[in-house]
Amino acid sequence: MFDKKMLDIGYSQSTIRDLYTYGLKRKKEIGEDKVFDFSIGNPSIPAPKIVNETIIKLISENPDKIHGYTVSPGMKEVRDSIATYLNKTYNTSVKGDYIFLTCGAAASLAIVFKALVFQGEEVITFAPHFPEYRTYVEAIGGKLITANPDKDFLPDFVDLENKINKNTKIVLYNSPNNPTGAFYTEEVIKKMASILSKKEKEYGHPIYLVSDEPYRELLYNNEKYPFVTNYYDNSLVCYSYSKCLSLPGERIGYVLVNPKCEEVSDVYAVICGAASMLGYICAPSLFQHLLPYVQGYTSDINEYKKNREVLYNALKDIGYDVIYPTGAFYIFMKALEEDAEVFSETAKKFELLLVPSDPFDYKGYVRIAYCQNPEMIKNSLNAFKKLYEYYQTCK
Ligand code: PLP
Repeated sequence: MFDKKMLDIGYSQSTIRDLYTYGLKRKKEIGEDKVFDFSIGNPSIPAPKIVNETIIKLISENPDKIHGYTVSPGMKEVRDSIATYLNKTYNTSVKGDYIFLTCGAAASLAIVFKALVFQGEEVITFAPHFPEYRTYVEAIGGKLITANPDKDFLPDFVDLENKINKNTKIVLYNSPNNPTGAFYTEEVIKKMASILSKKEKEYGHPIYLVSDEPYRELLYNNEKYPFVTNYYDNSLVCYSYSKCLSLPGERIGYVLVNPKCEEVSDVYAVICGAASMLGYICAPSLFQHLLPYVQGYTSDINEYKKNREVLYNALKDIGYDVIYPTGAFYIFMKALEEDAEVFSETAKKFELLLVPSDPFDYKGYVRIAYCQNPEMIKNSLNAFKKLYEYYQTCK
């Protein structure tokens, strides 16, 4: 006998990984340069030099200590260095004492849901959203509710307000967004904060605002990132160094609890408790040691900016309906037929691997990850053109 829910998750296929695996197989069959794989959000730009240089220095100077266990939430001096950086950068007042180092944003999210959501309680997020949210929330007996986006893929505030009820425990947002690239401005965060404050009063319990922000630094026109702790007291941040430092395989990030949260020491304690029971204690030690040296560094995101311009302009010129992404490294494009899964299958015939929007709880679009070699993007444009022409002749 096995737990049905876990069996289902274990056997379920990830559309993104399936496409990626298909791409690897196809490249072997017809050649690496003939397949245009836009499936996975794996950073294409190397980590900044300081990352590898510091790792080498740390290993050669402290070979005995560097790989040992640390305290469960991560080394105090590392957490303090993160808080100092955040306070200086976002003019906020967070504390290392309320940061818990994790194995990336995935672990941070799983910990936050386990810590705060009781059986039957609800987490509201906005469609389209990162597919794993549903897995994490449902695995602990919670319910994931999707609120509608507006035409720019920002929150539809009326729908948000209507969907909040006495069972709502968390409102979760992701900006810049995977898969749309939408960026939540200060005005958007303030509006969400004011709705949640009103609803907290109405229902008499905290409704936490959780910001999932692994793409925080991937903004291409000096947009000012509105840090959630400055706008709403009962807030938490789930962060990861995967994207900004191009370190997705190393699994390092954190959960941050706003010091202004009601009963903050208990909130932090439940985060520590949930992390313990999920086995997410003591984040990778080498990468903990690295963090104080790399606060504020990013890989060269100008490369993504160039990819965005080339691909967006070309798709628009061909005739596709595309959303201009403010940040992250994805373009969200309307499929040329109602069923995005069928459209994605058709695109494969042109060796284009595009992720259908269905796993993101949204219909009719595909996600194009432009964290790719610029040469591949350039070579793919003809395939995008042929795919478009194919649909024009089908009509
Ligand atoms: N949240 C979002 C929106 C993501 O896109 C991802 C990864 O792609 C994650 C969380 C998980 O991040 P990590 O791989 O750093 O755990």
